[in-house]
Amino acid sequence: METRYDVIVVGGRVAGATLAARLADYGMRVLLVERAALPSLPAVSSPIIYASTMAMLDEIGADEAAYAANTPKITHMHTVNSLLSGKIRIPLYAGRDYAYAIDRARFDKALWDTACQRPNVRGLMETAVTDLLQDETGRVIGVTLKHKDGTTTQAYARGVVGADGRFSVVARKMNAATYDENSEHPTANYYAYWRGVAPFAQGEGATAAAYEGDGTLGYLVMDSADGQTVVCVEGRSAVLDPPAGGVEAFYLDMLRRSPQVWARLEGAQRVTSVRGMRNIGNNYRDAGGAGWALVGDAYHQKDPLDGQGIYDAVYTGKVLALALKRWHAGELTWEEAVRVYDEVVRVRTYPMYKTLQDRVFGSFYSGMNTRSVPSWASEAVRTVGTWALADEDVNALMGKMLTRQLPPDMVTALAAPTLLRAVARGGLNALRQRLMG
Ligand SMILES: Cc1cc2nc3c(=O)[nH]c(=O)nc-3n(C[C@H](O)[C@H](O)[C@H](O)COP(=O)(O)OP(=O)(O)OC[C@H]3O[C@@H](n4cnc5c(N)ncnc54)[C@H](O)[C@@H]3O)c2cc1C
Repeated sequence: METRYDVIVVGGRVAGATLAARLADYGMRVLLVERAALPSLPAVSSPIIYASTMAMLDEIGADEAAYAANTPKITHMHTVNSLLSGKIRIPLYAGRDYAYAIDRARFDKALWDTACQRPNVRGLMETAVTDLLQDETGRVIGVTLKHKDGTTTQAYARGVVGADGRFSVVARKMNAATYDENSEHPTANYYAYWRGVAPFAQGEGATAAAYEGDGTLGYLVMDSADGQTVVCVEGRSAVLDPPAGGVEAFYLDMLRRSPQVWARLEGAQRVTSVRGMRNIGNNYRDAGGAGWALVGDAYHQKDPLDGQGIYDAVYTGKVLALALKRWHAGELTWEEAVRVYDEVVRVRTYPMYKTLQDRVFGSFYSGMNTRSVPSWASEAVRTVGTWALADEDVNALMGKMLTRQLPPDMVTALAAPTLLRAVARGGLNALRQRLMG
């Protein structure tokens, strides 16, 4: 086996495979190492992807027919709470007006294949990186590989990238510092896939629906591949705290607390075990250093509430690849390329990260939900809320934030005038209808 590469990428799912494909397209020889056998599910993920992610996958030639095989297109997202139900249309972006709740095993394998089709990418599955090799100055120059048969070998490169997820070995070995940590409002997420779940409404196609809980938790029900539906419950870690060995019963108990979710599960069968995670990390890490770098969750991990982890994993891979292209051409040192990457990614991801923290607080910790609206105000809230959710401009604004077409700070700035206009329009329409009899 060849043992010298331009870059070794540790971790071969979303961030790693897409990064490897791009580096290869820029002329680099890449070793892509993945501990697991693919296709297989990643540690934890209940994934929705939007058109903005798919547009980046187009750039590396990933085949939508493969990664989204037999997966229904989701064109609307529903919100359901005690006051009103409404839907947000997924806005058109680069030719797509839909999202997918993809099967991660299929998706990750399709991305792996996309990368490994390149002659200058060598993919090694069922192989773990157990250590990093450093020269006398501390610069990373390679990795120790543990193969499926238990043997170990070494491989060398001019740079090593950790695309190895939340519990990154590369970050740990290099003592990567953590920044902008948010651990004040810890959340947990548990989910399983089901078959035979009732549709959101009669005649409604595939949907993603968010159901209000008791103010400490909420539910997400998304139609996924092969007729399966993923049913998630997310909320405060202190509330979603299953007893040892009792996660399955605990999960069902939580689902029973939502009459709407439970009604959709009548007659349905759970087809996977319950997966989940407590105290989900929210932070950035050092982007890299002498001969090493981090991408995807290894670099920036966050709560899954707004479903942006896969986008960020693909995006960080894209930006790092662009910076390393200049390193490979001799225009930047490795350290300079990593700095450029870090700055660009921060500018793009930080506003969304900040908004996410506010949403986590608002959804699970603020004590506010629509059930806490006093009854005398509920009719007014319902009326105004219905006008707002039915309004084209409000719909477009919310949809554009989800698909990353507008940064959340811009959405915040536009929200008040857009909502005011929506309410004025709604009021006028209601008046017109009343006058017309
Ligand atoms: C509960 C939950 C729900 C989520 N839902 C969504 C969602 O709806 N939409 C969304 O966009 N995102 C979602 N996410 C986030 C999303 O799953 C992650 O952001 C995404 O998987 C990150 O991709 P990655 O490639 O960086 O890391 P991972 O997908 O974690 O892949 C890392 C890979 O590295 C490999 N690896 C680790 N160590 C080694 C080693 N030493 N040697 C070799 N290989 C190694 C692992 O085997 C793994 O395959 C969710 C996350 C959670 C926790």
